[in-house]
Amino acid sequence: MTVEQQYLLLPGPTPVPTSVLRALSKPMINHRGPEFKELIEEVTEGVKKIYQTNNELVIFPAAGTGAMEAAIVNFISPGDKVLAISIGVFGDRFAKIAAEFGADVHKLDFPWGQQADPNMVRDVITQDKDHQIKAVLVTHNETSTGVVNDIKAIKDALGNHPALLMVDAVSGLGAMNLPTDEWGLDVVVSGSQKAFMLPPGLSFMSASPRAIEISKNCKNHKFYWDLDSALKYLRKGQTPYTPALSLFYGLQEALKLLLDEGLENVIKRHKFCRDLVRTGVKAMGLNPLADDAVASSSLTSVLAPEGIGANKIRKLLLDRFGVVVAGGQQKLDDVIFRIGHLGFVRPLDLLAALAALEIVLYENGYPIKIGQGTNKVQELFVKKEEA
Ligand code: PMP
Repeated sequence: MTVEQQYLLLPGPTPVPTSVLRALSKPMINHRGPEFKELIEEVTEGVKKIYQTNNELVIFPAAGTGAMEAAIVNFISPGDKVLAISIGVFGDRFAKIAAEFGADVHKLDFPWGQQADPNMVRDVITQDKDHQIKAVLVTHNETSTGVVNDIKAIKDALGNHPALLMVDAVSGLGAMNLPTDEWGLDVVVSGSQKAFMLPPGLSFMSASPRAIEISKNCKNHKFYWDLDSALKYLRKGQTPYTPALSLFYGLQEALKLLLDEGLENVIKRHKFCRDLVRTGVKAMGLNPLADDAVASSSLTSVLAPEGIGANKIRKLLLDRFGVVVAGGQQKLDDVIFRIGHLGFVRPLDLLAALAALEIVLYENGYPIKIGQGTNKVQELFVKKEEA
């Protein structure tokens, strides 16, 4: 089976629409010329629409982790106290980057599979009477577990405390509602290979006016990630260094598709995919790691049934059906498998993957009737048509 025949159901990179693939192959242009100026202005405005923000926004030629590092080095000085909320691998990563760049990191860890409790955030914040905490780091959608944090409640928990709220929305932005300005999010980072339906290689960072003021006095080391420099060049319609031109063309096309569909519909589409997958696996008697109330629209983590490891299921899905799902990370390795349902994933592809899963389970002695899960999923399609 070729990769083109696969069902790529990872929580990123996601499949890429054909028109975006075509846009990626456009000829190179002068990145200091008028065509690029028009392009960067158009795509920056487009990404801001997905962010629902009028804040400044810069595009880095980098993986999502690059934008996370940019967030740390532009707004946090060595010695600054930082509250890092973690509900999994990516919350840990944000904390680790901050520590690497000299922040005094205080972690607030929650069990993997659960949401961060805003009340516990409030407790820490209200004890910080002399405002030593300069920033609060939080993951929007924790990709290692499939749990979405209640970012609005966390913002509310900060009350009038002046700490910057910095959000890693790499896998959640575009898949779920995250209105940057309405919720007052100071710094939000995201990446191209998720709901944006692009290949990996671009990442985004928005910064509120307050965050930009703070960045002017920030003492951390930076060169590639320097926000001030990126903004100066953006005013001229350029980037400080050579941009990933092909990905800019891809982004232009992907934004057209997303904005034509409308952000609200994009978010609804992701929710429908989430409901399909959760309905299917539950009807098979499997348990998602995350409860319904905190379940991500980007991906679903499924606990492997006893006796059949998650990695064996993944291997059988791949070898026999070309269905590609992700494994568990770190302590969740072989415990869960993760079905990505974001970006350019078609709902019917999810039905196909669930059908394959049903067969794999059946053939490995798991007590299930063929059709037990997929019938319920088909009913959801029927309901959608009737609604
Ligand atoms: N944060 C989250 C929530 C993510 O899902 C990912 C990627 N899986 C990252 C950060 C890092 O992105 P990248 O792999 O592009 O560096």
